[in-house]
Order: sequence, then structure tokens, then C-alpha cells
Amino acid sequence: MPILVETDRRSDSMRGLHIGSAERDIIALGIAIAAIIMFVGTGGTVLPQVVRSMTGAGGAADTVLTNALLLNIALIIFGWRRYRQLCAEIEQRKEAEERARTLAETDSLTGCFNRRTLSDKTERLLAQSAQRGEAVVLMMIDLDNFKQINDYNGHRTGDEVLLACARRITTALPQNAVLSRLGGDEFACAFPVNAEGRDFVERVATATIQAICQPVVVNGSTITVSASMGIAQHGLPGAVDDGGWEAKTLLHMADIAMYHAKKQGKNGHSWFERPMEDELRYRKDLEEGIRRGIVQGEFVPFYEQQIDLATGELTGFEMLARWKSPDMGLVSPDVFIPIAEDIGAIGDLSEAVIGKALEDARSWDPKLTLAVNISPIQLRDPWFAQKILKLLVKANFPPERFEIEITESCLHENMAAVRSLMASLRNQGIRVTLDDFGTGYSSVGQLQDLPFDRIKIDRTFVADLTMSKEASTIVRAIAMLGKGLGLPVAAEGIETADVLDELRRFENMKGQGYFYGRPEPAETVRTKLAAQGLLPGVAAAKTGAPEAPEMPSRLAGNG
Ligand code: C2E
Ligand code: CA
Ligand code: CA
Repeated sequence: MPILVETDRRSDSMRGLHIGSAERDIIALGIAIAAIIMFVGTGGTVLPQVVRSMTGAGGAADTVLTNALLLNIALIIFGWRRYRQLCAEIEQRKEAEERARTLAETDSLTGCFNRRTLSDKTERLLAQSAQRGEAVVLMMIDLDNFKQINDYNGHRTGDEVLLACARRITTALPQNAVLSRLGGDEFACAFPVNAEGRDFVERVATATIQAICQPVVVNGSTITVSASMGIAQHGLPGAVDDGGWEAKTLLHMADIAMYHAKKQGKNGHSWFERPMEDELRYRKDLEEGIRRGIVQGEFVPFYEQQIDLATGELTGFEMLARWKSPDMGLVSPDVFIPIAEDIGAIGDLSEAVIGKALEDARSWDPKLTLAVNISPIQLRDPWFAQKILKLLVKANFPPERFEIEITESCLHENMAAVRSLMASLRNQGIRVTLDDFGTGYSSVGQLQDLPFDRIKIDRTFVADLTMSKEASTIVRAIAMLGKGLGLPVAAEGIETADVLDELRRFENMKGQGYFYGRPEPAETVRTKLAAQGLLPGVAAAKTGAPEAPEMPSRLAGNG
């Protein structure tokens, strides 16, 4: 614990200062006391002489003794003043030392202890509770949506929210709890409980989370925040104990449990259990693998055909990323995209795979478009439009053939940012599709407000189209809405001919789905395109077309 050592060193040097000042203190006091003794000695002889001389009863007082007396008086005054000065100095030093210790131990924003002090105090609690036969509970608390609060309301408001949370947590915790802010929006607290403590801890956990959830009003805006909590407990019957208990272990366990609480839907608490650790290890391996995979080019584009439902013609492809992991084989984006988002790697991953897709798509027939999916996290990047333009320029790919799909749910995050981003993208000639439409509850107002080029009906409605009356009503309503707003509509997830037949009743609709084939790697797409004469520069007859299945778009054309 390097920082603890630092604190010790600091107090050592302070101690050195104290000894120095105490020595000087004693000398000054010694001088004053010696002067007083001498004063009593000389004063005893001189003062009667002085009195006698003043009353005319005797001769003049002895000059040497009188001077000695005056010197004594001067020394007493000097010694006493010096003593007072040193006392004041010591007082100041004590205060400075106290201040330095507070600074070293606490978080300046919230006044809670910091991470190192928490470990220190938890160690002490563990030692004390072992003697008393008690248990120690460690709770890790992480705010769920703090990044958005900071991004959209500014850091000042973020600080106010943190301060309010710290106060609320303090009130919900037992009096003897040690609360610390570990950094950012993460708090941890430790407190002792007796052997029947689990119910008590449950109550504290619930009360803490509820307290945090109460709206905070900052500068007139009401902000709501929630928190996830992980709990680890040492020393209770039935609790896992593999020896070697220390604060670090408890903190690690509470952290794992907190991560579990997040995964369970946030705004709640979880107790640490052993299997969670394996899960976390698996997750860490994935994170490592993703970071390495980006550098080593393991993320590759697959392509799903997009068809004009009326004519059955192939209009282009949607690029869907795949991870060719050396350990796990072909990994689905549903697994790696959320993790890449969490670890801040989504931008790099996306750019790498879009770069490859543009290289692939450049050789396709110029009438074919390329659509890519963009994570809501990327939309927050102020340089996003420039990054896309750079990729297009590098691949020499016409922006008019390029489409970006953004998912409906991200419209709620920040309309202003999405609007300005869409404006820059569209200025470059790039088209923007609203993906997964119907799942994100966007309003007609938002649709009118944002210049989308197309809306894509979510596959859950399309899949149920022929089976569920509700789904078919929703699909019809979206088609009508598109028509009303002059927005072309696409349908994803077309799996059967029946669904396709239903959809073909609507005008001007594009579609895609397993009915036309699964997403395929670049090479397969090239082979098929070449067979159809859609790969300029490659003659259809010379390709391995007979081995490749027919482009399913023909199926659409036929029926
Ligand atoms: P999405 O944008 O809704 O993509 C369509 C997903 O539906 C794809 O899953 C596709 O394989 C699947 N699909 C296509 N036809 C059918 C069908 O007929 N039935 C069913 N049940 N599913 C069908 P995939 O490839 O696993 O991608 C999942 C999601 O991952 C995508 O959903 C997209 O949101 C995301 N994603 C994929 N690539 C990227 C990427 O490069 N960046 C980002 N940010 N997200 C990506
Ligand atoms: Ca999509
Ligand atoms: Ca979709």
C-alpha cells in the first residue's frame, strides 16, 4: 500500500518537527524559569536596598545587582514571550498536520474517506470484529446512469449529484459505518454486524438504494439517479471463508457482486457468491480478447442482403460485424458489442470493421449500397462524422452508396446531438436509417424533426406478422406512418414466403431476412455477385458460380 507508507513518512517528518520545537520549547521555558530563580535570588537582595534608598533610609542600591535584576526581568519577559510564541506555533502545526491528514484520507468533493483509508479502516474492523466474534460487511455502490448525467447536465451538476448521494448514503448507513468514495460514481462502505446480521444488512442495502433513488434538484432541474450494490460479508456462519481475509478480498468480492447487480438490471443489490467470480473471469477474458482482437484484425464484416420487395432486386447489403476469435470461433455481435461499448472500445472496433467493409463494397456493382450499424455511444463522439468521412475518403467510396443505421432507442439520449450529427452526415451525402423501429417508442414529432431517410421495422413485429394480429396491425401502422411522412420503410427479419407476401402489399418497401439468406462473409458475397454480373471487372462465367447457391434475391423476384 504505497500511499499508506507515504502518510507514515509524512507523519514521521511532522514528528521530527515536533521534537525540534519541543526542544526549543524546553530551552525557552528553562531560560524563563532560571531567570525567575535568579530574579528571586537577586531580587531578594536588591529590592530591599532599592526600597531603603527610595525612602532615604539607606544609600544607593548596588549598581551591579540592580543591573542583574533588570537583566533578569528582561530574560523573564523574553523567555515567557518565546514560550507563548512556540505554543502558538505548535498549535498551528497541529492544525496543519490535521488538515494534511484529512486531505490524505478523504475525498475532497464529498468529504467521504478515500480508497486507501477504506482499506485501512476495513483491516482494522476485520481485526476488531474477529476478536468480538462479529462479521464485517462491505458494500460497493455504483451509480447506474451517472455518465449520462455528467454528459448532459455538465460536471458541476454531476458533482452536486455525487454530493447529494454521499449525504443520503451516510444517513442510510449505520452510525459506525466507514463510507468512502472510491472514485467517479463509486462508493464503498464497511461496517460490523453481529451474527444475525443478514436481515439487518438487507434492510440497510434497501434503504441505501432507495435513498439514492430520490430525485435530486440541482439549479431547478430534477435529476433522478439509481444505484447498483454488491455486498460481501466476512465472518457469518455459512459465508465462504478460505482464509487470508483482508480488505482487498472483501472489496474484490463486493465488486463482483456489484457487477452482477448491474447485469441483473441495475437499481438493486446482490450478495457475493462464488460462481460470480468465474463469470467475471470469463468477462475479463472477453474484454482482453476484444482489445487484442481489434489490434489483430479479428473483427470482420459479414453481409446481409437488402432487397427491393416489389421487384425482388438486390439493392445492397447491411454489414454485420463478426468476431473470428482464435479461442471461441465465430462470435455474434450480441456478445461482443455490449462489452466493447462498456470498455470504450466500440469506436475502434467499428472503424476497423467499417474500413474493411468499404474495401469490400468498393468492388461491388456501383448501384449496390452498404449499410452499417452504429452504437449510440459512437453518436456521442463529436468527431464521429469526420471519422466516417475519413474512412470513406480512404476507401474512395461514394458517400451516396453509404448508409448508417442508428437504433431507435438512442433518440431519447440526446436529440440535439443526434440532430446535429445527422445534419453533418447528410451534408456529406450519407443516408441515415432509423433501425429497430417500434421498439424505442419514438414519437411522430421526433420522426418529423429528424431527417431520416428510412425507417426499418423491427424484426420482432415482422417475424410475427402472419401469426399475430397485433404485430400485423403494428406493421401496417408503421407502413402508413412512413407513407404519411414521406419516409421509405424497410422490414428486417423476413423468414418465410408468407411474411414476404404480406409485406409485398405495401409500396416502396425494402426487406431483408433469413428468407434471402444468412449474413455471409465477403468472399461468399463476391462469388455470388460475380455470378450475377454484379462484380465489375469479373466476368460472370469465370467465377465459381455453379458451386455457390443462387442469390436468394431471385427468390423474391419470382414470388
Ligand atoms: P440488427 O441491426 O437488428 O441486425 C439484424 C440482426 O438480425 C442480425 O443479427 C441478423 O443476423 C439478424 N437477422 C437477419 N435476418 C433475420 C431473420 O430472418 N430472423 C432473425 N431472427 N434474425 C435475423 P446479428 O448479425 O447477430 O447482429 C445483431 C445486432 O448486433 C445487430 O442487430 C446490430 O444491432 C448489432 N451489430 C452488428 N454489427 C454491428 C456493428 O458493426 N456495430 C454495431 N454498433 N452494432 C452491430
Ligand atoms: Ca441494423
Ligand atoms: Ca434491427
